[in-house]
Amino acid sequence: MSQSNVSRREFLKQNSLTGLGAILTPSLLADTPVGTPEIVTKRSIKPAPFSLAEPPALLGGKPVRTAQWPTWPLWKPEQDEKQLLEVIRSGIWSRGNVVSEFEAKWAAAVGAKRSLAVVNGTNAIMAALAQLDIRGGDEVLVPPYTFIGTVAPVLATGAMPIFVDVDPETFQIDPAKIEAKITPRTKAIIPVHILGLPANMPQILAIAKKHKLVVIEDACQAHLAEINHQKVGTFGHAGCFSFQNSKNLAIGEGGAIVSNDDAFMDRCFSYHNYGNPYGMVSGVIGAGTLIQGTKLRLTEYQAAIGLAQLKRLDAETTTRNTNAAYLKAKIKSIPGIVPYKLYDDVTRAAFHLFPFRYKKEAFKGLSREVFIKALTAEGIPCSKGYATLNNMPYLNDAFQSKNFQKMYPRAMLNFNSYVERNHCPQNDRLCNEEAVWFTQNMLLGSQADMDEIANAIEKIHTHADKLLSQK
Ligand SMILES: *Cc1c(COP(=O)(O)O)cnc(C)c1O
Repeated sequence: MSQSNVSRREFLKQNSLTGLGAILTPSLLADTPVGTPEIVTKRSIKPAPFSLAEPPALLGGKPVRTAQWPTWPLWKPEQDEKQLLEVIRSGIWSRGNVVSEFEAKWAAAVGAKRSLAVVNGTNAIMAALAQLDIRGGDEVLVPPYTFIGTVAPVLATGAMPIFVDVDPETFQIDPAKIEAKITPRTKAIIPVHILGLPANMPQILAIAKKHKLVVIEDACQAHLAEINHQKVGTFGHAGCFSFQNSKNLAIGEGGAIVSNDDAFMDRCFSYHNYGNPYGMVSGVIGAGTLIQGTKLRLTEYQAAIGLAQLKRLDAETTTRNTNAAYLKAKIKSIPGIVPYKLYDDVTRAAFHLFPFRYKKEAFKGLSREVFIKALTAEGIPCSKGYATLNNMPYLNDAFQSKNFQKMYPRAMLNFNSYVERNHCPQNDRLCNEEAVWFTQNMLLGSQADMDEIANAIEKIHTHADKLLSQK
């Protein structure tokens, strides 16, 4: 194979997982066949034989696990391909009835009145911001513990993201820190249900109501997650979802806006179709394009893939919840391992990722980097997750643009003072020191798989002193 072929394959593999916004371990990037239906059914019933006396795999010992993890996304030709083939053979590939069917089924799945399918989650947020009239000169509150896809659309509207620190126990935006960040410019808040764990919506909604803030939920990682049996994405003025390849409902690329507000959804529809008339966005026939829009339409074949995936989403979500609860119960007693906490009123999470905090003091001071390497060597791929988003150069690049220079007083655009004002120490600790993630596909396996994860962590804890010399 030629050099350029190799690098293109590498690029595609990397690119297909960029939605995670994190560097993933090589084992997850390894070639995995798509369309192996045995993945969910062929489960190991017992964990591999295991001894704590075995040296760490990083030092040449036998790894705890050698079996493959469930691959992602799943594709089951016999049940997934019929509608997709019909679409392809019909020649109707641009937006039509299949996209409308997907929208109706997605709205029903989350319990929203309306849903609009768009090209991706980032543009779902972009469209929602634009149609809720978030513009240059406004401030939008966001958590720093998120994917860039939350923040990029804020800057694209000309608004300024203002970062509110997170609660390290839940990894979510900390409601107690919101009000201190509100100024006369603050117009909106984007709570992110990050990692697929619900944010504290009751408290966030109360603060938003008091200060008349628009609420756009970034539910891009939180398909079918619930607070008091109500699906996330349906609490705010709008909820935004992503169907990128890594997400719990994977289409490759895709997104959706959900809302109960017909006038808003009609405007979003019009916006995603060049501002052409739709519903309440209507004018004199022949008057032309009505609102400032763009083009964000999903294709029919993407919708057919989404409909196939949607059939499995509920059962998969149950499996992830069951395995996550089991794994959490097993690892929380290992010193130095602090799994996520869910708020009391959470009735279901999505577990796009399974997070815990790693306290190196309990591992003889072993760095998180070496812990991650050692765990990965045991056959348990993991990552350190997000880097700090609230001090990266893209912010200053926006601030130096002509639009921002015209829209804000000079002092607001001073990058050093911006970074100071947006300092989030809890987030810094998660990103730079403590967070460790497992990806959602690992939670689709068996209970024995979860036992192996716990065994591997226990093994590293036992042998931490021997790993100290590793880099
Ligand atoms: C994936 C993601 C997005 C963006 O969705 P895309 O479909 O990748 O554009 C936004 N926010 C969060 C939290 C995400 O995980």
